[in-house]
Amino acid sequence: MTGLFITLEGIDGAGKSTHVDYLAHRFAAAGRTVVRTREPGGTAVGERIRELVLDHAMDVLAETLLIFSARAQHLHEVVRPALAAGSVVLCDRFTDATFAYQCGGRGVPEPSVEALAALTHGDLAPDLTLLFDTDASIARARVVARSAADRFEREDLAFFERVRARYLAQARREPGRFCVLDGGRSIAEVQASIERVIARHVG
Ligand code: ADP
Repeated sequence: MTGLFITLEGIDGAGKSTHVDYLAHRFAAAGRTVVRTREPGGTAVGERIRELVLDHAMDVLAETLLIFSARAQHLHEVVRPALAAGSVVLCDRFTDATFAYQCGGRGVPEPSVEALAALTHGDLAPDLTLLFDTDASIARARVVARSAADRFEREDLAFFERVRARYLAQARREPGRFCVLDGGRSIAEVQASIERVIARHVG
């Protein structure tokens, strides 16, 4: 069976974790081996880097390089082996998030991230990217209700509007890979849309 690399994207509170759970159950019920993972993180090294990036103020280039370090380890240790074994890899955030947060949100020049992406995984892109497009104030209200906010979640609404706009720009550039879903609707409605997308793209 061919491996399938599906990434979930959107601003904090858009519903990615909620829908990763749903997709994992859905593919497992269909008899597929599912690897559920996240970035930054997904490996012991990557989770240590995640703590650093989420909890410590740092220079934005240092932040970007750490995220790609975690990504390199994640691809080596988890993503590539799982895809080679024919698994469905469900990944909460990937390189689109770096363009959205570090370029859109923090102003890192896009060519820098393009170069790092080419170096880290030039030959590998997600088969399908689900973008949960959500109004920043709705997402913020969900995050506040969920738990104590990390360094990214504490950014202001204008930051998340920039991140959201950058995600949508990426989706327009790559309409074949991206599916944009309205993350502001109820969980049941979003899941119904996910089903339609999966039926269309995966069968
Ligand atoms: P993310 O992983 O994108 O940060 P989560 O999946 O953790 O977002 O969702 C944040 C919070 O909002 C969770 O408490 C979740 O139950 C809730 N939530 C997610 N999607 C919806 C939705 N469509 N409607 C209402 N609440 C939602």
